[in-house]
Amino acid sequence: MKLRGELEAPPALRRFGSGWTSGVLGLVLGVAGLLLVISLVAPGVLAIRETQTLRDNPWYRIAVHFILMAAFALSTLSLVLRRDRMLGTCGVAVTLCAALFGGSQATAEVSGRMPLFFGVDFFVLNVLFTGFLFIPLERIFARRDEQPIFREEWREDLFYYLVSSLMVQVLTFLTFLPAKTILAIAPLMGVRAWVVKLPFGVQFVVIMLLTDLVQYWVHRAFHRVPWLWKFHSVHHSARSMDWMAGARMHFLEILVLRSMTVIPMFVLGFSTTAMNAYVFMVYLYSTFVHANLGWRFPVFEKVLVTPRFHHWHHGIEQESVDVNFSIHFPFLDWIFGTYHLPKDRWPSEYGIPGHPVPLGYLSQFKYPFRRKPKPPRGGA
Ligand SMILES: [Zn+2]
Ligand SMILES: [Zn+2]
Repeated sequence: MKLRGELEAPPALRRFGSGWTSGVLGLVLGVAGLLLVISLVAPGVLAIRETQTLRDNPWYRIAVHFILMAAFALSTLSLVLRRDRMLGTCGVAVTLCAALFGGSQATAEVSGRMPLFFGVDFFVLNVLFTGFLFIPLERIFARRDEQPIFREEWREDLFYYLVSSLMVQVLTFLTFLPAKTILAIAPLMGVRAWVVKLPFGVQFVVIMLLTDLVQYWVHRAFHRVPWLWKFHSVHHSARSMDWMAGARMHFLEILVLRSMTVIPMFVLGFSTTAMNAYVFMVYLYSTFVHANLGWRFPVFEKVLVTPRFHHWHHGIEQESVDVNFSIHFPFLDWIFGTYHLPKDRWPSEYGIPGHPVPLGYLSQFKYPFRRKPKPPRGGA
C-alpha cells in the first residue's frame, strides 16, 4: 500500500529532482530485469519460442545487464534524493534479487521446452516497448494533461497486460483453431495461390480492410446482443484512456474477436510476411487509438481511425452510445450509419454511466456470468 501511495504520489511530490522519476524508473527496470533473469533460468516454461533467437544473441544479455545496472543506479539516486525511501529500497531489493538468480549471466536451470509455457519475457518486452514508446508521447502531447502515468485503475490494466502476455501460447493456439478448421474443410487452393502472389502493399491493405469489416460486425454484435455486451462492458469500464487502457478486455472476448478476425487473413492465404506485418501494426495501432494523445489529425482522421475517433467510442455521454465501431477505417461506420466525430470536441468522460462493472481482474472475469444486476447499455 505504501509503495502504491508512492507511485500514485500527488504532483508536488513527483516534481523533477524529488527522486520520484528515478525511483519509478529504477523500480520498473528492476522488476523488468528480475523477470527477464527468471525467464533465462527457466526458458522452457517462462519464455516464448519466438524470443529464442533474441535470447541466443549475445546483445540480449548485454541489454539485461544494462537494465539491471540502470535499475540499481536510478534506485540509489532516488534513495539519495527522496525523503520517503520506499521506491529506492524496493528498486534496489528487486535488482539484488535478480543478481541472486545469476543476473545477466543466469543459466538455464530448467532446460527443455515444456508443452505449456508462459510469456514472462513477452510481458516485459511488451510493457517496456509500448510504455517507452507511448509514455513520452503522452507526456508531451497529452489530451488530458492532468492525468498521471499511475492514474486510477492502472494496476487492473497492467494486470490485463500480464495475463494476455503470460497466456500468449494458449491465446495464439485457440485464436487460430477456427481458421485452421475452416481451411481443413475448404482448402481454397486456387484463391490462396492467387492471393499469395499479390504485391505486399496490396495484401497489407486488403488484410486491413477484411479484418476491419469482420471486426466491425463482431464489435457491433458485442454492443447490441445483451449477453455479449456483458463481456464487452469490461472493455468499456475503463474510466481513463491511455496506452494501457486498450489491454482491458475480457479473456473470452479476446478469443472471439481475434479468432474471427484471423479467419479471412489465414483462410484466404495471405503471405506470412504480410500477416506478421499486419499483426505488428495492429498491436501498435490498438494501443495508439486508446492513448492519451490530443493530436487532431484533420486530414488523417477522415481516412484512418485516430485516438479522437476511438475515444468517442468510449465516451460516457448519450451521443457516444453505439458509435465508431471500426478500428482502422472510419468509412465503415459512415456506410453502416454509426459514424460520430463532432468537430473539435472530445468526450467529457469515459466509461459506462453508473460504472456498473466491478474493479479487479477476477471480479471482471466473473462479471458476465453473474445473473444480476444487468448492466445498462448506455455510454458504450
Ligand atoms: Zn477500445
Ligand atoms: Zn465497444
